[in-house]
Amino acid sequence: MIKKINHIAIVVPELTAAIDFWVAKLGLALDHVEGVPSQAVEVAFLPVGDTAIELLQPTDEASGVARYMQKRGPGIHHICFEVDDIGATLDQLRAEGVPLIDETATVGSDGRKYAFVHPKGTGGVLVELYELAT
Ligand code: ZN
Repeated sequence: MIKKINHIAIVVPELTAAIDFWVAKLGLALDHVEGVPSQAVEVAFLPVGDTAIELLQPTDEASGVARYMQKRGPGIHHICFEVDDIGATLDQLRAEGVPLIDETATVGSDGRKYAFVHPKGTGGVLVELYELAT
């Protein structure tokens, strides 16, 4: 079962310039910035109510996120839905014939589980699923 939108991720060429718009001009709060070396991105977290905007700046031109931006330009990269049981959600999507990027969830350092659904099965939207650690 989908509980909520956890975050919407936006790929940007340069975090400082993006933060100037989203924080200084639009007025969102900047929670923190962190590097995610495994994905070759720097990420800024901007909470909005009980969801968030996540700004992604690629740090390596060969990474998946960098190649996405080279092909499609900056803009919305993915939408992340929080689910109560990520294994059951992946099983259900697989049974429906939806192509998955991750057949099983990855467990993050904070215990959170995540997986991506392939955009060719979603009408072009990269969908991320999260199951938060309890
Ligand atoms: Zn995400």
